[in-house]
Amino acid sequence: MQPLRGTKDILPDETIYWQYVYNQALEIFSLHNYKEIRTPILESTQLFERSIGETTDIINKEMYNFKDQGGRNITLRPEGTASIARAFVNHKLYQKTIQRLWYYGPMFRYERPQNGRQRQFHQLGIECIGSLNPMADAEVIHLAHKLLNQMELNNCTLEINSIGNLEERKRYQMDLIEYLKPYTKDLDKDSQQRLNINPLRILDSKNMKTQEILHYAPSLNKYLTKQSINHFNLVCTYLDSLQIQYNINYKLVRGLDYYNYTAFEIKTNLLGTQNTICGGGRYDNLIKQLGGPETPAVGWAIGLERLLQIVQKQLDIKKDHSRVYIITQGIEAQKKIWQIVKNLENEKINFELDLSNTSFQKQIKKAIKSGAKLCIIIGNDEILNNCITIKILNQHKQYTIPYENLLNEINQLSIKSEL
Ligand code: ATP
Ligand code: MG
Repeated sequence: MQPLRGTKDILPDETIYWQYVYNQALEIFSLHNYKEIRTPILESTQLFERSIGETTDIINKEMYNFKDQGGRNITLRPEGTASIARAFVNHKLYQKTIQRLWYYGPMFRYERPQNGRQRQFHQLGIECIGSLNPMADAEVIHLAHKLLNQMELNNCTLEINSIGNLEERKRYQMDLIEYLKPYTKDLDKDSQQRLNINPLRILDSKNMKTQEILHYAPSLNKYLTKQSINHFNLVCTYLDSLQIQYNINYKLVRGLDYYNYTAFEIKTNLLGTQNTICGGGRYDNLIKQLGGPETPAVGWAIGLERLLQIVQKQLDIKKDHSRVYIITQGIEAQKKIWQIVKNLENEKINFELDLSNTSFQKQIKKAIKSGAKLCIIIGNDEILNNCITIKILNQHKQYTIPYENLLNEINQLSIKSEL
């Protein structure tokens, strides 16, 4: 049996990197008073239909939908923001001050699996809910930047744009359609389909011919009103103060309908076509749309597979070995070992207990293979004499000590750094 197409097992050699990202995130976000939120992986299909937008790729073709035994329409979440907005409304979190939230977990999209694109993948994200201040935009972008720096991701660029508000976009959309219509036949297939249902996404097309046609298309930034422009300029000013470099990309739009004003992506040139590591922006209407009070918000999500694919090799994370390997032989020794196990545990000394019930020789070979520096050996002789044999593996040194001296001995060896 194989894992399902587009899903992957993450084995212990790799989970250390996932734990590392989690811990780094926890540390950095805590400094800024962001709190972790965990929402269900299953949600009602309607939640995503109502938030992400009916004409988006996610809703049209990427959702993992099914009916449960009760006939309810259920979806495996394709992203995190909709669920958080739902939780925000359900738990009336708006009664408190600003909510600074972060999340970490699996997302599901039925896409064609390829490098950097899976059907089950993981996102780490934050949401700053309750402020319209451009400082909030700067704060969340700074946090993405900080985390990626901490993960030693160099070679990435922040692209930023303002996609204005709904009215500005509507006016722009009409003119864009007008401009593109005469070229319909020359557009790529996807863009032809998008022309009438979601024309903004055409700006995002990777097709060369389409991009050529777009060269003289009207530009969204010309349609922004003073309020949108002010907001955007302030975000840029704050990024300058934070010394975060960015490129303004007037063609940057996002694949989800709920965004307004600020949209941004962090891209790397190291991943081929799947080159976006982080995507985010402002969504001031989503919470109202889901039945809550009008509440502005801004956030982002990082794709962890894509991030780790780049940084994993260069991260210097120690692969932990057990310090102590425990070898037993005979039922009496195996009865007595549990006290030692508890003592090591209390002292926070990590260890591995051999379970093989084979000869001393074989167990010692395993100890060497395990990378442990020290062996504790208890067999019939040790039981009879109430003692323990200690073997320092890399020095081929072996000696016996009284049972009660074990912890003391291990601590001494640690001080002498033989462990
Ligand atoms: P793309 O254009 O690559 O499909 P997107 O706009 O659909 O990305 P978002 O919804 O903004 O992506 O998700 C944020 C991040 O999550 C992406 O920048 C990417 O790093 C990651 N991501 C999205 N879809 C996948 C996937 N199928 N497999 C792995 N990572 C993904
Ligand atoms: Mg996508």
